[in-house]
Amino acid sequence: MTLAGGAASVRNMRPVTEDEIRASFINCSKGEARRLNLPRGLADLPWDDLDFLGWRDQGAPDRGYLVAERPDGLVGITLRAPTGVRRSLLRSSLCSICVTSHAGSGVSLLTARRAGVAGREGNTVGAYICADLACSLYVRGKKRSALAERVSESLTVDEQIARTLVNLDAFLEQILRSTQPA
Ligand SMILES: [Zn+2]
Repeated sequence: MTLAGGAASVRNMRPVTEDEIRASFINCSKGEARRLNLPRGLADLPWDDLDFLGWRDQGAPDRGYLVAERPDGLVGITLRAPTGVRRSLLRSSLCSICVTSHAGSGVSLLTARRAGVAGREGNTVGAYICADLACSLYVRGKKRSALAERVSESLTVDEQIARTLVNLDAFLEQILRSTQPA
C-alpha cells in the first residue's frame, strides 16, 4: 500500500482495519501481533483528528502501541513502559513527539525494540512520549494535559501537527534503521 501526497503536507490518518493493524507490526513476533489488544471501538475513533494511532494495552498496562502511515505503508511498533516507577506530580515533562507539557506521570519513557537483527539482539530505542499516546488530540486541543495550559506556542495547529509528524518519523526511523544496510 502506498500513501499518496507529499510527506511534508499535513495529513491525518485514514481509518484502518484490525487486519491492517495486526499486519503492520515490525518489531514483534507475528504471534504477539495477533494477540495484542486493539483499541476499543476502532471504527469509531476520531480518525480525522489522528496523525497516528496510539494506544495502551487494556490488559497489559506496561504495553503500548503506535501505528503510523509512512510512504511505504503502515508501520506498527510495540512499546514498553517502565513498571513500578514512582509518580512525580511536581515535575513536568515534555512529550518528544508532540511537545505537549505534562505533569510527571503524563509522559512516559516508552521503549521500542528495534526492527530486525538489532531488535533480536536486544537493541531498543526509547523516547519520552505522552503516556496515553494521544499526541494528536493534545496538539489539536481536543484533550488537555493535567497541566493547565499548553506551553504557549508561536506555531499554528497545522505547524504543530507538521512538527509532530517530523518527530514521529524521526523516532520511527531509529527503530527501522537497523533493517537497512549500514
Ligand atoms: Zn505527545
